[in-house]
Formats: sequence, structure tokens, C-alpha cells
Amino acid sequence: MAVERTLSIIKPDAVAKNVIGKIYSRFETNGLKIVAARMIHLSRQEAEGFYAVHKARPFFKDLVEFMISGPVMVQVLEGEGAIAKNRDLMGATDPKKAEAGTIRADFADSIDANAVHGSDAAETAAVEIAYFFPALNVYSR
Ligand code: UDP
Repeated sequence: MAVERTLSIIKPDAVAKNVIGKIYSRFETNGLKIVAARMIHLSRQEAEGFYAVHKARPFFKDLVEFMISGPVMVQVLEGEGAIAKNRDLMGATDPKKAEAGTIRADFADSIDANAVHGSDAAETAAVEIAYFFPALNVYSR
């Protein structure tokens, strides 16, 4: 399997719960390396731009309000099959449907406040990584 990079966001609910380290530990113990990271309090414009693909969805306004409600931790994860691996570790969008032992099952409260974001494909990963990190600030190791 190829080494990939994916964009991960620890959302405001999980940052507020003080579980950044616990979530990082899931990544590291499952073969994903953190190769870039920064904490950001997104502006409305940044959140709307990031989720532009969902602009027409009924939950868009609430999603943006939630994403700007506090700081988020944004990171690039690197590893074999990183995109699918991170999605597996995250669990289903709705934590009630997420498998036991996944990040969302363990740390998320609801489908809106669901602890983490992860890119869903190679194309979106490339766009999302570039949205937050200049290529020079991502460190393969
Ligand atoms: N979302 C929501 N209500 C819904 C569906 C999605 O609030 O009914 C939010 C949720 O925070 C989710 C994000 O919109 O993580 C993006 O939705 P997507 O379907 O891409 O889910 P994900 O890829 O994050 O699992």
C-alpha cells in the first residue's frame, strides 16, 4: 500500500474536552505520523471555505457556527493508506452509529459535534492539506 498524507482536524468539542493527546495517541499507535500541526481559531470565512462542498446542505450554517465556536487542532497525518486508516480510526459520522473503540464512539457527542474531521479521498486530502499548510511546512520523516 502506498504512503499517503491526509488532513485531520480535532474539532472544537474535542479540543474543549482536553483530549488532543488521547486522539494523537490513536494516530501514533496505528502507524500514522503527525508531519504538520497547528492550532487555529477559524474565522467564519475560513470555515465556510473549508466546507464549501457542503454549502447547499441543510446543516451547513450550524456546521460553520460549530467549527468557529472555539479553537481546532489541525494536522497532516502520513502513513501507509493514511486516508482510509484515519477514516477507520474516526468511525461513522454519527457517533451513535460509530463502531466501539473509534474516536467518534469514544469522544463525540452528536452528529454535529463529532470530534474529528478526516479527508475522504486523495483529491480532497491534497486540497485540504494545501488549505492549511504550505508544502514547506509538512515534514516527511
Ligand atoms: N454534519 C452534520 N449533520 C449531518 C451530516 C453532517 O452536522 O446530518 C456535519 C458533521 O460535523 C460532519 C460534517 O458535517 O462531520 C461533514 O459531513 P460529512 O458527510 O462529510 O461527514 P464526515 O466526512 O465528517 O464523516
